[in-house]
Amino acid sequence: AELYLNGEWLSPDKAFVSVFDRAFMFGDGIYEVTPFYCGKPFRLQDHCDRLKYCLQQIKIPFDCAILEHLMMQALSRSGLANSDAAVYIQISRGKAPRTHYYPEHAEPTVLLYAFPVVLENFHEKRWKVLVSEDFRWQRCDIKSTALLANTMSNEEAIAGGFDENLLVHDGHFTEGSHSTAFFVMNNTVYTHPEGPHILSGITRKVVLEICRDLGISYEERPVNIEELDRVEEVFLTGTTTQITIVESLHSKEKQIFTAQKGEITKRLQEEFLRRTRE
Ligand code: PMP
Repeated sequence: AELYLNGEWLSPDKAFVSVFDRAFMFGDGIYEVTPFYCGKPFRLQDHCDRLKYCLQQIKIPFDCAILEHLMMQALSRSGLANSDAAVYIQISRGKAPRTHYYPEHAEPTVLLYAFPVVLENFHEKRWKVLVSEDFRWQRCDIKSTALLANTMSNEEAIAGGFDENLLVHDGHFTEGSHSTAFFVMNNTVYTHPEGPHILSGITRKVVLEICRDLGISYEERPVNIEELDRVEEVFLTGTTTQITIVESLHSKEKQIFTAQKGEITKRLQEEFLRRTRE
């Protein structure tokens, strides 16, 4: 049994949640994906801090202290104790009669499982990305299980033969449907500032640290769609995306960006790989 649900280890075909669970009815829950490289957690504290922040923001009372132990157990139960893997954690407000306001006495539903992550060759991937409208809500900093706008956008991209979306809000790029976006112009790396319009990516934080350490200049400010003709490199980051090169950007009608060089992305990828292998 490799899946943790509310205090029990179960096989996936034996794990069930009530139809009155608020994650099922409202998407009233949050989640986190933490990577483990060769069985060792990578930026565990950052992932736990983000999880706590999200729980706090939506007032789910839950003590995260047991999670680290559960994550290690999930890995070993899935035979991933020494592999490149990630652990998915989902915490919903729990089961209660359907009301929009938060119920007083709900017990959070806690789900946790491990899955393999392929770290090899991420630097050889080159994505074709669809630029689409960011029609998500105004609290993208909360890693909510309510991901309908993200899934609608990504479905459109995948159905059109693309690998991911780059979302545009008010004329500037925010992030991907499940990744952080970076742009390189004139040897400076740009990414959207933290705040309600993006998820504060942990990989984003790592990439900015790498920039600082390697002396690559960077700026946290939104890049406007009008600036695309000055952009030389685009890459997307995330726990499962790592650092993936964007080969081209497309509107529904035409290609609007083609990767020129890729030296800065390459340097960041090399250093990222080194840090995950440390
Ligand atoms: N933005 C969104 C919308 C995401 O879903 C993700 C995570 N998959 C990210 C950014 C990247 O975050 P992280 O680096 O912490 O995985």
